Amino acid sequence: MAFQRQSGDPFDHLADINVTPLVDVMLVLLIIMMLIAPMLQQGVAVTLPEAGNTVAKPDTQNQTVVAIDSANQLWVNGLQFSKGEFAERVKAAYADLGATDKVLIDLGCSSHNAMWEANHLLMFKASLDWLTTGAVGGTRRGEIALGYHRVRGEGQRTRLIGRERAYHGVGFGGISVGGMTPNRKTFGAMLPGVDHLPHTHNLEKMAFTRGQPEWGAHLADELERIVALHDPSNVAAVIVEPVQGSTGVIVPPKGYLQKLRSICDKHGILLIFDEVITGFGRLGKAFAAEYFDVLPDMVTFAKGVTSATVPMGGVIVRKHVYDAFMTGPDGIELFHGYTYSGHPLAAAAGEATLALYHSEGIFENARALSPYFEEAAHSLRGAPHVVDVRNLGLMAAIEFAPRPGKPTTRAYDTFVRCFEYGLLTRISGDTIACSPPLIVNKAQIDQIFGTIGKALREID
Ligand code: PMP
Repeated sequence: MAFQRQSGDPFDHLADINVTPLVDVMLVLLIIMMLIAPMLQQGVAVTLPEAGNTVAKPDTQNQTVVAIDSANQLWVNGLQFSKGEFAERVKAAYADLGATDKVLIDLGCSSHNAMWEANHLLMFKASLDWLTTGAVGGTRRGEIALGYHRVRGEGQRTRLIGRERAYHGVGFGGISVGGMTPNRKTFGAMLPGVDHLPHTHNLEKMAFTRGQPEWGAHLADELERIVALHDPSNVAAVIVEPVQGSTGVIVPPKGYLQKLRSICDKHGILLIFDEVITGFGRLGKAFAAEYFDVLPDMVTFAKGVTSATVPMGGVIVRKHVYDAFMTGPDGIELFHGYTYSGHPLAAAAGEATLALYHSEGIFENARALSPYFEEAAHSLRGAPHVVDVRNLGLMAAIEFAPRPGKPTTRAYDTFVRCFEYGLLTRISGDTIACSPPLIVNKAQIDQIFGTIGKALREID
């Protein structure tokens, strides 16, 4: 049976009025955040250290002090507000649990009232499975995809298709669908029945592209080839990061994600976006799905939902997927869940974070600064060793020519030199990946790329 979007799908309706559903999902969250805002403390400062204050200073233990973290280590959205003040916010939200009407008793499905309501409100448009990390989401979305096809009588659809150079977290789900060789080599065959699309990075065709490359949409046609090989009736889901992060900011070519969507639609295959990095404002929109105007069937998220202050993740499941479970033979979403799913502390941190995103216009700041960020990143074109600069939203990568016979050492030396200048960077192979806090300002952006340029001029 070919998979069809169901008529009456609320997302179709939303498409008519030109509002993407994930925005709607976010709006529901944000409205809830506004409702609970009064109980949160006001006036949290959201600032980075002043620009100009980035020279490494030895502290009493003679350790280097980093003033700017250009990568928001591990790509978290990093409001980077004062920890003390944020802790007060979380405490306020958490203390609110003391009121019994706001607590769900069972830890396994408990969360703060507002998050719990968000969960249920979202079911009008989509359903949300609260989890603990991005990797857990990676496994969970695979389970849901298989379960979805099974409850619809297509249990033979078990194959999952990931992509080379993808990172989806640890655990057999994440590493099997993921495409990073060092993470895979130790674990043998991993999950059976997994194929990989080619990655889309090609220096010859797209070096120094600003934003999405013109070249490369045809690489999505590889999906047709893989699907034809196994027969579409055996394929459950395609899982991609909309912008690949961990292997060095690989921006999807224009039209590529749209092609994946239409091939999936044609063959009844679920399309899943891993938005652990891109979710919550990294591209200046709530989700990359909204940025690219491509609607997946599921979205996994983590990091940004609490700005990584407390571990939390989740899987957003669109209504047709949710309904398939509820109208299936068992009439239940899933029989098992995590002990710590929707943990009250994480929910409180989520509330505090989402309230700040809203009240401080954090996504808008990211969006407004993206052109400046692009310009600053591309100022490194022509700097020693630089063979590519690429960017989208507040993500950028600077790729270096590797030293002959010594791959990655040039990036490492640059990392060390930047660190000495008070700038923390993140390296991946011979690439430096930048994903600054969403509250970054222009002077700090100058400082980030200025420091990288300076370091590059000083190393061989
Ligand atoms: N997916 C992506 C795209 C990620 O970048 C990461 C972590 N960097 C994960 C999943 C895993 O998230 P976690 O570390 O929270 O398990």
